[in-house]
Amino acid sequence: MNMNLTKKILAAHLAKPSDMVPGEEIFLKVDQTLTHDINAVMTYLAFEAIGLDRTQVETSVSYLDHNLLYLDNKTPDDHIYLQSVAKRYGVYVSRPGNGICHAVQVARFGAPGKLSMGGDSHTPHGGAIGMLCIGVGGMDVATAMTGVPMRLKMPQVIKVNLTGHLKPGCNAKEVILEMLRRVGIKGGLGKVFEYVGPGAATLTVNERATISNMGAEMGATTSIFPADEQVRKFLKAQKREADFVELAADEGCSYDGEMELNLSELVPLCACPHQPDNVIPLKDVEKKKVQQVFIGSCTNASYSDIAKAALVFQGRHVHEDVSCTCGISSKQIYLQLMKDGYLEMLLNAGVRLLELACGPCCAIGQSPATKGVAVRTSNRNFKGRAGNPTAEIYLVNPESAAATAIMGTFASAEEILGDEIVKLADIQEPEEYPVDDSMIVAPLSPEEAREVEVVRGPNIKPLPVPDAPEQHLKVQISLKTVDNITTDDITPASAEFSSMRSNIPLMSQYCYHRYDPSFAERARQMGQSIIIGGENYGQGSSREHAAINPMYLGVKAVIAKSIARIHKGNLLNHGIIPMIFADPADYDRMDIEDTLEIHNLLDQMQTREVEITDVTKDFTFKARLELSDSELEVISCGGQLRYLKRQLEEMGR
Ligand code: SF4
Repeated sequence: MNMNLTKKILAAHLAKPSDMVPGEEIFLKVDQTLTHDINAVMTYLAFEAIGLDRTQVETSVSYLDHNLLYLDNKTPDDHIYLQSVAKRYGVYVSRPGNGICHAVQVARFGAPGKLSMGGDSHTPHGGAIGMLCIGVGGMDVATAMTGVPMRLKMPQVIKVNLTGHLKPGCNAKEVILEMLRRVGIKGGLGKVFEYVGPGAATLTVNERATISNMGAEMGATTSIFPADEQVRKFLKAQKREADFVELAADEGCSYDGEMELNLSELVPLCACPHQPDNVIPLKDVEKKKVQQVFIGSCTNASYSDIAKAALVFQGRHVHEDVSCTCGISSKQIYLQLMKDGYLEMLLNAGVRLLELACGPCCAIGQSPATKGVAVRTSNRNFKGRAGNPTAEIYLVNPESAAATAIMGTFASAEEILGDEIVKLADIQEPEEYPVDDSMIVAPLSPEEAREVEVVRGPNIKPLPVPDAPEQHLKVQISLKTVDNITTDDITPASAEFSSMRSNIPLMSQYCYHRYDPSFAERARQMGQSIIIGGENYGQGSSREHAAINPMYLGVKAVIAKSIARIHKGNLLNHGIIPMIFADPADYDRMDIEDTLEIHNLLDQMQTREVEITDVTKDFTFKARLELSDSELEVISCGGQLRYLKRQLEEMGR
């Protein structure tokens, strides 16, 4: 049968036979896992609790890349734990200073045709080299590491036929912003976007990575490009040509949907506050005074991204009212840019070079001013994402960001360079990257690894494990949220909060801190409670703390109009029942502190429909459980850890 590329890779990883019908559950054998420092402690605590001797996948990598501001003991405690636990269980470590997980993973570990699960929503970055890379919660990564097949709802595969070529001043960022403009932040739910066509062939791996990375903003399961000549060139430049295999969709294969996008028609775009799909042409953005520009993140800090921004800056200066920083995505890119003179151009222009880390992208440093206008090349512009909820974040490409930093207001590269803009097209990716893996610590042999003592500083607290649900639930509503609540709303990002992620008793006190500061104490007082959510509840990141903290505060269920994919998985994993209003109008009938009562909960759950009484308002409504059989088993057990232990026992492991 002729298959598209996505199906081919999935078929090669099926752990149980399947017809791969969209919406049906499939089970997959995973090749690679990825974690990063601000989410990973929970993953490895869970893996330790499972009790296996070593990771069971080909390659597991732990990146120390997000939070390199050692403000107090917490982050170093985390990093020392992560380094020692990796040594103990056969996991690679990419040390602080080596670069951001997705950039390093695609360069040093990824390979066409592999299946990777990463504890980060931008894991799909690796789709740039013909790999299927899926962002999941940390508990899912721990599960993948056990070798137990991962469940996934078979996605629809959407063909995106790219034609034409990008004009100078337009970047791969325009491609993904245009996709977001067309399909919106929920338009990718349950879908894989497979990019093909003559336009795709013109895009380098780094350009493709920007597109596949930000597919996460559409809610997509993942995005993928063929493994073609561009991929071969990239892997050759990484001295890894041996890992290249040519992979593409079969001639005449079918897709579940098709889109057309002509690269030649794109103009510089901008995602305006506070959602990445709020996209308009850059020239139409109100000419506000810009206070901060950040060029970087995993999304747009490749060699060519930074080189193009540097060319815009060449011989010019950052506007005196603008704070402009640049965060390059990996050590090897930094070294190459330095060798080729681009860092000098940035420094001469007054750009501040940051550490090789996520940093400002997830609010770890470089917060904008009060009501400041921040222009960034990263992938998210949610309220508070930059660490200051009063600020406005606009997302643009690196060339536009450089022009904006020079002008002090929104500007495109063409406004700065005029006819000279054509010189941006001359920037090529290096034919050879400086390859030096000395910052990657390879796993020990199993015998050596068993001798390693895992180091637990005071910031490493035990993993909280929820109880299984009971038949009768009578609890109050501790919170009622609006639509599009993000994981940033639930568990804020910032250096301060990120370093609390290994310490749930402490971090849970700040749950919903910026959205409703009284929530944590109210939920704690209630003992057990339910959260009522609007549409797309929990959108954004794979941050499982957005489930762990409410669970720790006694939240037993979330009843929402809809729930974002990764967050729903995290709720299940951590024992919170995800329910969907059968009639969304019921959302309006209830209020915070109402008492809800459910009889025969476990029995009703089996029917996937639960009848709930609002005792305070005296009415009854229904909520659906949109769960597969195995997901139902997970939640009935009280979460993934209990479920997994039972499964491994049954398998005699
Ligand atoms: Fe890091 Fe930002 Fe990329 Fe997440 S999106 S991996 S925080 S750079």
